[in-house]
Amino acid sequence: MQSPTGHDLQIAAPEGDSEFALATELKILRDVFRLLPTGVTVQDEQGRFLLVNDAAAAQLGMAGTEPEAPASKELEQRRTTGIELLRSGSQAIEEECVSSGQARQVLLTTHRPVRIAGRNLLLSSSADISEQKTLEDHLFRSAYYDELTGLPNRGVIEHRANALLQRDQPHGGFALAFLDIDNFKHINDYYGHPNGDALLVEVAKRLGMDLRESDMLSRISGDEFLLLLNPIRSEQEVAEYIQFTLQRLRAPYFIDGSEIFASTSIGVSLYPEHGRSYEVLRQNADIAMYSVKNDGKGSAAFFDAGMEREALARMKVEQSLRLAILEKRFCCAFQTKVDIRTQDIKGIEALVRLRDEGGVIHAPGTFVNLAVELGLIDELTHLVLAEIVKSIDPINQTFGPDTSISINVAAKQACNPEFMRSFAQALAATGYPERFMIEVTEDAFVTKTQFQQDILPLFRILGVRISIDDFGTGYSSLSALADITADEIKIDRSFITDIHKRPRSQGILRAIESLSEALGMTVIAEGIETFEELAYLQAATKIRYAQGFYFSRPIFLDELRPAIPVASEARASLASRPPQENRQAYARSDRYRR
Ligand code: C2E
Ligand code: MG
Ligand code: MG
Repeated sequence: MQSPTGHDLQIAAPEGDSEFALATELKILRDVFRLLPTGVTVQDEQGRFLLVNDAAAAQLGMAGTEPEAPASKELEQRRTTGIELLRSGSQAIEEECVSSGQARQVLLTTHRPVRIAGRNLLLSSSADISEQKTLEDHLFRSAYYDELTGLPNRGVIEHRANALLQRDQPHGGFALAFLDIDNFKHINDYYGHPNGDALLVEVAKRLGMDLRESDMLSRISGDEFLLLLNPIRSEQEVAEYIQFTLQRLRAPYFIDGSEIFASTSIGVSLYPEHGRSYEVLRQNADIAMYSVKNDGKGSAAFFDAGMEREALARMKVEQSLRLAILEKRFCCAFQTKVDIRTQDIKGIEALVRLRDEGGVIHAPGTFVNLAVELGLIDELTHLVLAEIVKSIDPINQTFGPDTSISINVAAKQACNPEFMRSFAQALAATGYPERFMIEVTEDAFVTKTQFQQDILPLFRILGVRISIDDFGTGYSSLSALADITADEIKIDRSFITDIHKRPRSQGILRAIESLSEALGMTVIAEGIETFEELAYLQAATKIRYAQGFYFSRPIFLDELRPAIPVASEARASLASRPPQENRQAYARSDRYRR
């Protein structure tokens, strides 16, 4: 055993020398007491310190049994506690926060009144539990608070709302507002995730700016916040506050040198009018928020029963879409892409259709966006490809074995390397990938560099071509042309309708035409419906290809095959029949609801 000074301590005393043995034992005990890692003190009934070991002296700011001047407040507190406990004769365990030097320590102190040598004394021992407390605090924060914004999480706001509901004061109303940043994914994609995170922190700050003590703001997930306004006096008061909040959130955000604009959609439910449980109130605020999203975003709405009916109907559509995917109740209609000089079929576009449980066929306008939203679109696209592969013989017989086959891919998919890789593999597995063309809208090119660098090569290597669909309707048209080496541009129908009567559209058409010529891309006009539109294209432009009801509505092969049995006949038939007649033939075959 080593003494504090480093000398060996002899416990065994020389034979017969009991006084020496006692003195040695006392010295050992004193040193042990002094060096105990736990702080130990002994106080008398006046609160005076009779014994203080080194650890306790450091914790309480003492030099031996005397206070360092000035006496710390922890020490004063100890004195009072000592007097009180010895007076009452009770023992106690308490947590104490002390500052030793710069650092703060948390102590767990046990006080025990004892009677020694006829005196009433208080024996106190303090263990340092700072590390354990830090861990507990950390666990507490991560269980109840959002790391990014520091706001309470969904569990905390739910708890607060439930507490209010339990009180159920006769006139105590509150409001729950569900907030969602519009197009946050685009912002994240465009400005990068760190800036997206910075935006969320900024939004949280703006939202929390003038909340009352009794209100609560929570981040419940990604870009969703929940705001509890309590108490409220009237719907009008809440409406005014929400309008003010919307304005505040609309002001530009300056993040990392960029000026970012973001809007927010807000849905509000009121207690007790819109529900008597937290779950119902939250759900109804959510429903109101979704109705804002559907009506164009960036504003606020209070919940009403009509919205609930709409949400139910939507849920029904969602369920039936999930079921349709599970049961593979999809088919393809094919629309021809025609050479307007020769009437030859250059290619076809596969347009997906859903067959509902009653056998009614639905156009993609009713379900494609929903499939994207629900994360079902990848499966749907693979089903479309499988359908094409299954029908390749009739496709070849009807339209010719060299026609290109276009498949639409949603913008969200086009930016997803994982899906695009699996899709490229599926195209390769057909054995004829070079016949395929992928149609993507301009929205896909928000993340242009990624598309150009990581995704395009996957398809180039297979000979699969890329078409920019609905060209001119997105917000990146020209920059898409500059950066994406696509093979085809499909000019949106909105430019083509009545083109012969619209000089401005004619100018735009000419500009697109010469741009695409310079960039080596084929131009195709979408949505030709009338002879006049076609005649204009033929006479005034060099545009070679077109697609539209004038030539052919999207057709189902099943219905066409008996009438046109072989490819040569089919093509001869399509080419020789006047367009009007073709239109009637196809009109019969496309019976989907619009
Ligand atoms: P889109 O790719 O631009 O396809 C052209 C749409 O315009 C088709 O509507 C077609 O029937 C319609 N159309 C063609 N010619 C004319 C015309 O002369 N006049 C008029 N008024 N319309 C014409 P559809 O089949 O309802 O498809 C709508 C959109 O749904 C497509 O637009 C495409 O963006 C999307 N879509 C279709 N199939 C798929 C698919 O398999 N996957 C994905 N992600 N989207 C698809
Ligand atoms: Mg298309
Ligand atoms: Mg289009």
